[in-house]
Amino acid sequence: MRSSQRSDRRTLSSAAGGGASSGKKSAISRLSMTDATRALTEEDDPDSGRVRVAVRVRPKNDEEISHDSEFIDCLELQPELRRLKLKKNNWSSESYIFDEVFTESASQKRVYEAVAKPVVECVISGYNGTVMAYGQTGTGKTYTIGSLGKDNSSERGIMVRALEDVLTETSAGVDTLSVSYLQLYLESIQDLLAPDKNNIVLTKDTKSGEVCLLGATVVEIRDIDQFLEVLQIGEGNRHAANTKMNARSSRSHAILVVHIQRSLKAKDENDFLAVDMNKAEESSHNIKSKLLIIDLAGSERIDESGVDGQMLEEAKFINLSLNSLGKCINALAENCPHIPTRDSKLTRLLSDSFGGTARTSLLITVSPSASHYSQTSSTVMFGQRAMKVMNLLKLKE
Ligand code: ADP
Ligand code: MG
Repeated sequence: MRSSQRSDRRTLSSAAGGGASSGKKSAISRLSMTDATRALTEEDDPDSGRVRVAVRVRPKNDEEISHDSEFIDCLELQPELRRLKLKKNNWSSESYIFDEVFTESASQKRVYEAVAKPVVECVISGYNGTVMAYGQTGTGKTYTIGSLGKDNSSERGIMVRALEDVLTETSAGVDTLSVSYLQLYLESIQDLLAPDKNNIVLTKDTKSGEVCLLGATVVEIRDIDQFLEVLQIGEGNRHAANTKMNARSSRSHAILVVHIQRSLKAKDENDFLAVDMNKAEESSHNIKSKLLIIDLAGSERIDESGVDGQMLEEAKFINLSLNSLGKCINALAENCPHIPTRDSKLTRLLSDSFGGTARTSLLITVSPSASHYSQTSSTVMFGQRAMKVMNLLKLKE
């Protein structure tokens, strides 16, 4: 852990200086599509400051297995080349490169280690970070992000594994670790740890510029069993709240906010990055950082013309928040100086966890079934836009 933090530190310090120059950007248009679909090379720096994008294919479900004779895969995966081939039919297919490609046999541990652990390590070092899962309902977002692994700890998802790592790397009694757990539904923020609280205000601290959730419950975490209890309470409240509102959980975003405050006095100050030492001076030797872990609402778009009432409201707000998230991720991918976070509550919440020295991982989840081709294709495009520009730059170099 220590040595991996040290190697992180080197790459992060350079990433903190900003990614692609405008001169490099102009090279993008000169690349052909063949370049764009070539496998990444060894020189590709996995620790560059851009959004890292992985794709996970879930195993076939019972229905798909029972219709096996009719069931055709629309995906072919080559994990060693980080390549996903999307087959429209027997004659037409497209290949896409991601940072990681996980087949249906990939374990929760492997997915955590590749997708979330690098972000968690950064947050432990004093940066803000975000891990989120995007995909059609039923493709494995909640399984990957939120599994408690009650009966089998190997099933534990990203939230639990992240907290395990943070607890291991921070010192009880010296550092403070706390969480809030929220749901964003119809652009309204609900506290999953205190369901009667409806007055959470999303705002920015005028002094520090930090995003604050005024009124949200904050629970200090001491050990993993206590965190599992907190998460389970949150899940129960999410279910109850959605039943009351007659909403499906796939229509809301679930957001775990992990706050870490580390005291430098009891630590080797060299364990923190140079950029964080500046922060430390301002805050009397305390380093504060934040990790957001987000199980996004299902990405399948509801046609706003075909529904009314509550479903129309849901459609409008999900389309709004996922579109604004897409715009922010694209702006990050293109290294734009301005990330348009103001359009939705989801992106406002993310505004100090995006860009700069913050680190972001996006996991897109897809079904292998050809019957979901169009949703899978749109999810793959979302993921591609998030990483495309930097990959093109890497290939050109
Ligand atoms: P989503 O949150 O995207 O709607 P879920 O996480 O609820 O999807 O997954 C749908 C179903 O598929 C669940 O029963 C879940 O346990 C199962 N599932 C999803 N991904 C996997 C996986 N990688 N391995 C085993 N089961 C999975
Ligand atoms: Mg879900």
